Amino acid sequence: MAVYIGSKEKPARLAKPADSFDVMIVGGGPAGLSAGLYAARAGLEVVLLERMFMGGQAATANHVENYPGFDNGIGGPELTMAMERQAAKAGLVVRSAGVVGLELRGEEKEAELEGGMAVKARAAILAMGARPRKTGVSGEEELRGRGVSWCATCDGFMMKGKNCAVVGGGNTAAEDALYLAGICEHVTVVHRRGEFRADEALARRLREHPKVTIIWDHVVKAFEGEERLRAIEIESVKSQERTRLPVEGVFVAIGEDPDTALVKGQVELNRDGYVVAGEDTRTNLTRVYAAGDLRVKPLRQIVTAVSDGAVAATAAMQDLRYAPTRAKSLEAQPVT
Ligand SMILES: Cc1cc2nc3c(=O)[nH]c(=O)nc-3n(C[C@H](O)[C@H](O)[C@H](O)COP(=O)(O)OP(=O)(O)OC[C@H]3O[C@@H](n4cnc5c(N)ncnc54)[C@H](O)[C@@H]3O)c2cc1C
Repeated sequence: MAVYIGSKEKPARLAKPADSFDVMIVGGGPAGLSAGLYAARAGLEVVLLERMFMGGQAATANHVENYPGFDNGIGGPELTMAMERQAAKAGLVVRSAGVVGLELRGEEKEAELEGGMAVKARAAILAMGARPRKTGVSGEEELRGRGVSWCATCDGFMMKGKNCAVVGGGNTAAEDALYLAGICEHVTVVHRRGEFRADEALARRLREHPKVTIIWDHVVKAFEGEERLRAIEIESVKSQERTRLPVEGVFVAIGEDPDTALVKGQVELNRDGYVVAGEDTRTNLTRVYAAGDLRVKPLRQIVTAVSDGAVAATAAMQDLRYAPTRAKSLEAQPVT
């Protein structure tokens, strides 16, 4: 019998450690939760390991307006708590523990947890996500969700008809700026260099766009506002002269860090550190799958993360038919 051990209704520990499973999932964001739901519903014994809180980045979104099925949008915490409950009902075991080591090359996959315990499984789904890089300057965290965003696809629509800025000069910044130019009154791109790192075709479209202004050789020094963002303070990297730029929204697009340090050297990563996986989420290692923001993919959103999770669990289920059976399965007992 699989037991749900979550952080809400039940104690966040196992009465007796169930150390051997069919599938282990690392990461409890939308990708991991969806993988857990599909794997548990397929009758597999599956454990999900999460180091912080369930729901991942999606749980930090104030209001999600682009996840299909909610015509008035839904709060990120509400959406991810429902995902968690649904997976729990299907029989997903959750352990609130950070994974500090992974050995994925053998027939049996092994995770070392904080505190020294280990979990083994015949298949592993990697769903550790990716963190957007922050500028680290004052006001950024305080005004998060109130004008400051790291995701134009998520929050751009709220800036309809307003003036906003994009910080960055790579492909993501260029794509974000072009996307926002279709929604906002005007978009100012603030870039610390004198030329874009974005592909030339994108950069040209940006330079030629009538609703886009580019401020070269400047960095953001502060996000200003109380209830909401009202302006950003920018500084010339050449003269150190500071300027105040009134904007109602700013999108920070200075890169992301996929949480893949744990698997480096085992799983194939691209040069930016994202896991290289096929459309079927299979990686270079047998019965190791990558789902959600940590893999190479064209769009990092909740809807694509849950889709990956479903595909990964299905691939694991198919591959496990031909895999050696578990040597031993300690059954989890309900906490009394
Ligand atoms: C503020 C904000 C607002 C957003 N708004 C939207 C929106 O409106 N619409 C939309 O579609 N998308 C939105 N996104 C993007 C969306 O949240 C992500 O695309 C999605 O959460 C990715 O899911 P994931 O499961 O791949 O990764 P994540 O959500 O990042 O989850 C990864 C999980 O893995 C855990 N983890 C990492 N390493 C370990 C480890 N070693 N051991 C155990 N656990 C580990 C992390 O703690 C985390 O919980 C937003 C993102 C942010 C930050």
